[in-house]
Amino acid sequence: MSASKNDKDTSREETEGKGATGASSKSRTEAREAEREGAKKGRLARWRFSKKKDMPGGLWLKCEACSNLIYRKELEEAGRVCPKCQFHFTLPARERLQSLVDPDSFLEMFEDIEALDRLEFIDSVPYSEKIARTVQRTGQKEGLVCGKAQIEGRSVVVAILDFQFMGGSMGEVVGEKISLACDVARRDGLPVVIFTSSGGARMHEGALSLMQMAKTCSALSRLHETGNMSICVMTHPTTGGVTASFASVCDIVLAEPGALIGFAGPRVIAATLKQELPKGFQRAEFLINKGMLDDIVPRDELRDRIARLLDYDLGTHVVRRSKQPATKTDRAASDRSVASGDGTDGPDRGVPNRLREGISEN
Ligand SMILES: [Zn+2]
Repeated sequence: MSASKNDKDTSREETEGKGATGASSKSRTEAREAEREGAKKGRLARWRFSKKKDMPGGLWLKCEACSNLIYRKELEEAGRVCPKCQFHFTLPARERLQSLVDPDSFLEMFEDIEALDRLEFIDSVPYSEKIARTVQRTGQKEGLVCGKAQIEGRSVVVAILDFQFMGGSMGEVVGEKISLACDVARRDGLPVVIFTSSGGARMHEGALSLMQMAKTCSALSRLHETGNMSICVMTHPTTGGVTASFASVCDIVLAEPGALIGFAGPRVIAATLKQELPKGFQRAEFLINKGMLDDIVPRDELRDRIARLLDYDLGTHVVRRSKQPATKTDRAASDRSVASGDGTDGPDRGVPNRLREGISEN
């Protein structure tokens, strides 16, 4: 996308240049002035472009939740959580890995699988070209990063959707990698931890992308049959075919605060229904009261919470609890859960009671 912008800037420069020199009726001074102006515009455009490339969004950015201006460095230091309103910005997959798994424990799997342009689909640019550009920009071959890792010493298979790669959309490769990750977990008796941030199915792949919904669900179903646990953390934004498939069928479904989760976007729904939507519609806090989520966990508590949930799978939870007294963070989290009333009035999603207790009371 950035490259096409550059092309536009250059072509504009060219037309402006031609316009100035080609006008025979203009005096020489006017032509020179126009040329200078054109060159200045070109310089500015190049400067803007290079700044944008080096530091997307500039030094400051506007929080989409509270509209306050935030210093980018401050936001990054806070793990991309707005220091003013605690809105959780989308985290790139590699940064998520860093904050989630034990250092040097990640062993990437299936990183070489590449997307195919079976339909030879042409959008504003051909799909194959779009993929090539995205691969170059992100340094990874597809929108899902998966592998084996350890979370506070517990072995897991992790799969993380990267919103930077074509909006975290699910095409054939994403579906295949989720299925393969589940198969590895089943073979090795490991739990699966999935993080989602996605715009849905990848429309460039047509019906093939929609088929991934069934494929990923059946892979998780096979995993569940062997008694392995799956946890999904929906982060901002998780929409479309991803919400409607593997993200929602995991044993435990968590979300980050303020995450937009839904099938169609709120604007589309409002336009279709011709009605004003309720406040906070499709946000995690709205959905937890509808029974779609098991809990909302702030980013800085996720690692610890997932580790404790994994203890249920390993059967070590009780031992660990009796040995370690509750920490200050645990008590604060417990207070929040009790205050929000979750875990008591939400519909049972088939999660065993002991797990629900683990989510809401610890
Ligand atoms: Zn904010």
